[in-house]
Amino acid sequence: MCLNELIRFIRSVNNIADTMIRKCPKHGYFRGEVCQCGEEGKYVLDTERTERMGRFISGGLRHFPDDLGLGMNQHGWVDIDVLIDVMMTRYPWASENRLIGLVESDVKERYQIDGNKIRARYGHSIDVDMDFPENDLPELFYGVSQEEADMIMEIGIRPVRQRYVHMSTTYEKAVEAASVHTEDPVIFKVDAFTAMNDGIVMMKANELIVLSEEIPPEYLEVIKV
Ligand SMILES: [Zn+2]
Repeated sequence: MCLNELIRFIRSVNNIADTMIRKCPKHGYFRGEVCQCGEEGKYVLDTERTERMGRFISGGLRHFPDDLGLGMNQHGWVDIDVLIDVMMTRYPWASENRLIGLVESDVKERYQIDGNKIRARYGHSIDVDMDFPENDLPELFYGVSQEEADMIMEIGIRPVRQRYVHMSTTYEKAVEAASVHTEDPVIFKVDAFTAMNDGIVMMKANELIVLSEEIPPEYLEVIKV
């Protein structure tokens, strides 16, 4: 598949990625009309409310927890009951079951639940101190526009409007992430092995995304396609 075909494919998939939530008795929460096993399952939340709840928790857990009075700790954790109470003042249909359904059916694994706490795994603009396990992949990927690429070759990758630099664990995921912002992405390969040996901290937020502080240009190489 060439790069342009890949981008078209990714866009078509993303358009249908966030849709209604249902629950399969065998496989748990899923997005869409039927589970992978063919089972219809039980209705949990429609597409519009899934999007609204998604936007609400993204805002609360990544950008303005204090405005909502969520009482977030330094590692980004918030009490689930507090989040649901606040959410219900705006969306009376919100519930713990629906929130958990949204988190567990999310193919991008944006959120993490641990006991009675919830947090965003990545995407923070506020100053959090995330404590994920160390990255164990020797190479990572980062996609940008052509203009950004020229600057990155000179100054490296810096977190822009975000607490951390977000790298992808695969080339395809980097293309996907960059395609949201640019028609013609440039993909960097990051020498994570050497960078980490040199003391740059890289953390695995989930199977798709690794977070780090600033990455100097000597660890970066443009992948030619
Ligand atoms: Zn199923």
